[in-house]
Amino acid sequence: FYEGEFSNEPDTDWSLGTNRKWAEAIRDKWKKGPEDIPTEIPLIVAGLDVYHGRETQECFDASQKEKVCTARYAMANEEDVIRAVTIAKADPDGWRKKRAEERHRILSRVAAELRRSRGDLLGAAAANTGKVFTESDPEVSEAIDFTEFYPHSVKAYAELNNVECQGKGVGLVISPWNFPIAIPCGGIAASLAAGNTVIFKPASAAVLTAWQLCQCFWKAGISKNVLQFLPCSGSETGVKLTAHPDVNFVILTGGTNTGLRILETRPGIFLAAETGGKNATIVTAMSDRDQAIKNIIHSAFSNCGQKCSATSLVILEKEVYKDERFKKQLVDAAKSCNVGSAWDFHNKMGALIHPPQGDLKKALTELEPGESWALKPENIRNNPCMWTPGIKWGVSPGSYTHMTEFFGPLIGVMSAKNLEHAIELVNQTGYGLTSGLESLDKREQNHWKNQVRAGNLYVNRGTTGAIVLRQPFGGMGKSALGAGIKAGSPSYVAQFMDFKETDFPR
Ligand code: GLU
Repeated sequence: FYEGEFSNEPDTDWSLGTNRKWAEAIRDKWKKGPEDIPTEIPLIVAGLDVYHGRETQECFDASQKEKVCTARYAMANEEDVIRAVTIAKADPDGWRKKRAEERHRILSRVAAELRRSRGDLLGAAAANTGKVFTESDPEVSEAIDFTEFYPHSVKAYAELNNVECQGKGVGLVISPWNFPIAIPCGGIAASLAAGNTVIFKPASAAVLTAWQLCQCFWKAGISKNVLQFLPCSGSETGVKLTAHPDVNFVILTGGTNTGLRILETRPGIFLAAETGGKNATIVTAMSDRDQAIKNIIHSAFSNCGQKCSATSLVILEKEVYKDERFKKQLVDAAKSCNVGSAWDFHNKMGALIHPPQGDLKKALTELEPGESWALKPENIRNNPCMWTPGIKWGVSPGSYTHMTEFFGPLIGVMSAKNLEHAIELVNQTGYGLTSGLESLDKREQNHWKNQVRAGNLYVNRGTTGAIVLRQPFGGMGKSALGAGIKAGSPSYVAQFMDFKETDFPR
């Protein structure tokens, strides 16, 4: 259907010296200090820059505890919420009335701005969230894909003769810090492509990156009435936003509890939510074991495991579980992941966004009965955010490590009698976002595909890094709340539109 009309944006090729030099220049620019780096960040409410209630966010190179810049950003209050929703509903710039082609044209300009800003987006994500360049670079490509593909996908509806389609009204995008570029960009682009105005509430830990992203929309001609920017405290002001009756839908990537709270305050609101995962990769005796290790290591430890799509359970068929060579290679491969500065290419892992607490702290430091460390995670450089990868062996069914999402650089390894048993262990978690199978056997692949409950199934490939249109992304079970069609799929945008079937005599 889309062949020849849409193609995915390529990532930066880091093997080229020129690209590495380019990235070094970005690093130097960002590390030099705030001269041309945005550090005074206002709210954008009703088209205006608003400075009040400011919070300070120190942006460190967390690996070296070295300050890169201090971003001061405004925090919205209840009055800002009311003004923002009022203007979003009134839509004084007429975004809703624009033809789909016109919206497409403007969003293509956003894509061009994103291409131009790739370097500064990488710089912002590294300074702000500690994300390594090699991990945020594919995010920029995905963001470009979203802004190109979503308006394109709407054309199919706009061209139907008997159908009138319009945006639902006001969309609220609530985004996470772990994908501070691609995820908010996808929510904003889809809402805009559908003809809605947008209020964007970025994660508090990623305001600087969100601000850098919004520049691309505003520069391309999306007005500040159409896309408003409202960092705020989720528990105080954020709830006022979701509770406002003139907000017509919410796109959330975040915690299950946030999703549940939205549904409690606004029963019946349209909520497209992606709320976490406890993802497993199964390795059967029929796998290519070397390939399996490579895929597992990347899926578990890239971005320090801070991805909803990350593999945090590895379920080995008993023959593989007993294979000492496999165990040693897995451990050696994990040890080979460099942990350090986000600005250095050789590092696979940067710093965690926060010092581990709660579930993650427990996972990184405690063992349950039957478990042993194949590789004990270590807190390094006297920095609470820097952790080396960990592997727990002998995880028991029903245990904490089996059932809890902890969002960090840790794998729990379990043994299964056979593929059937392994699938049972996967499904027991109750989540259902991504799932991996390492097996070269077609019958095993088919059986697994039919039995496993997850939204994104990957065979002999890692569980992270879904690509727009090729692998529409979204889950089931505890990984999805409310309604919601997969991000990056041809029908994603339609859910933010109302359709009127018209049958007028001609
Ligand atoms: N879409 C991302 C991936 O496929 C994961 C997004 C998330 O962590 O929420 O890896």
